[in-house]
Amino acid sequence: MRVLQVASEAAPFAKTGGLADVAGSLPAALERIGCSCTLVMPAYRQVFESGVAIEPAGVAFDVPVGQRHLRAEIFRSTLPGSNVPVYFVGNEACFDRPTLYGGAHDYHDNAERFILFSRAVMELAGRLEQPFDILHGHDWQAGLIPAYRQLLYAEHPAFARSATIQTIHNMAYQGTFWHWDMLLTGIDWKYFNWRQMECHGQLNFLKTGLVFADAITTVSPTYAGEIQSAPGGCGLEGVVASRTDVLTGIVNGIDTSGWNPQTDPLIPRHYSEADIAAGKDAAKIALAARLGHAAPDPRPLVSFVGRLAEQKGVDLLAEMISRVAGDGRAHFVILGTGDPGHEEALRRLAASFPGTVDVVIGFRELLAHLIQAASDIVLMPSRFEPCGLSQLYAFRYGAIPVVRATGGLVDTVVDTTPATLAAGTASGFVFRDFDSRGLEHALGRALDAHADVATWQQLVTSVMQQDWSWDASARKYLELYEQILSRPPAPPPELAE
Ligand code: ADP
Repeated sequence: MRVLQVASEAAPFAKTGGLADVAGSLPAALERIGCSCTLVMPAYRQVFESGVAIEPAGVAFDVPVGQRHLRAEIFRSTLPGSNVPVYFVGNEACFDRPTLYGGAHDYHDNAERFILFSRAVMELAGRLEQPFDILHGHDWQAGLIPAYRQLLYAEHPAFARSATIQTIHNMAYQGTFWHWDMLLTGIDWKYFNWRQMECHGQLNFLKTGLVFADAITTVSPTYAGEIQSAPGGCGLEGVVASRTDVLTGIVNGIDTSGWNPQTDPLIPRHYSEADIAAGKDAAKIALAARLGHAAPDPRPLVSFVGRLAEQKGVDLLAEMISRVAGDGRAHFVILGTGDPGHEEALRRLAASFPGTVDVVIGFRELLAHLIQAASDIVLMPSRFEPCGLSQLYAFRYGAIPVVRATGGLVDTVVDTTPATLAAGTASGFVFRDFDSRGLEHALGRALDAHADVATWQQLVTSVMQQDWSWDASARKYLELYEQILSRPPAPPPELAE
């Protein structure tokens, strides 16, 4: 079985969020169970600055994008720690830029950039020696691939047997563009209709992927349910609901070599369940020094690492901390970047509670690891959360997550009650309603449990032993690939009258 993974970011080459973690781990996990994977992504400036050797592949071709022909120059590398070939679609004007998608505003030409990318992926796949059985695209940036497969490349010998999968990592990002960008896709105008590529008058890349793909996956079973109705479907709930026969939810795994307290080069002292206290103490000393404190705070360390976006419940977090920071029960550390309003509110919060609230604005891989290692409790008050990775990293580093019951957080965190403690399944503290009182109450329960040394020891030991590696998830993807290939080929897409 040969699978082409198509993603707009992948660790360690370029990353803005969890998608990069998935795209950087899944291909290697599939390779380990005998599935041959190739990864393709854009050749951003960040790729060349990633420290991994990238070389020209000696392949270049022109790609039609509307009336123009844009040059695609292909580079290649290997996914570190594996034999997975990685191809990068290069075009300096499109991808040699300071950020991946834009700053406070998206780049004005993102439609053109990802049309070039998707079309180049098809051209490249057609030129590689062996054809692919599965074209597996991630998020809106790869949403056109299933349509290209069915509408423009159906006759191409390289794709005669290939099936397409569209994975949704986050329904809130759909890649919507003004209708004239349809001309750039090279796909006939007749497909710009409400059943296929159009949504509220705009060209919608994610919808296109959902309509044309042979199968759809998303990153947790609970999220697969939530996106079939409003508000989870973010306007595409009808499309998702019409395709439940091909929809599967598969929880992400984590890269257990990069995120492993026993080997992590980014933390000062390696540790396991056996010497967690010593490991956390060393991490707390290192973190305190980085944050400009003379000594670590003896209070429990409660942290948040993530994008400062509405989705992550940053408003709840700020509201709750401003209420409880004066109690003196915990020390808070927040690391994130994103919405300028949230960034400012958090900076003000830190200024109001010096010595109790630390806020670092920026994207810092090292700090993300150090904070996980130093933390006792990790907060994820998400409005919605397709899968969430931070809670899985927290488990591994012996930190206990406090989460809202939504999406993948439901599928991965078990609330601590006398019954779940007795059964040995308790792994966190869960609250239901999206309000700061609920978060405050759940954090209060976590801090009470932390004060009870035996309970906390039991919790921490059991979460550190959980296995959230990619092995189980990769096996589910492989089963799905096999299932799709055993189905009869899909009929040509039906066109709206
Ligand atoms: P999402 O994909 O919605 O951003 P996830 O929880 O799935 O959320 O993944 C977030 C990933 O991004 C984690 O690996 C987390 O450590 C990382 N991350 C998010 N913000 C930052 C930041 N400011 N600095 C370093 N790492 C970050």
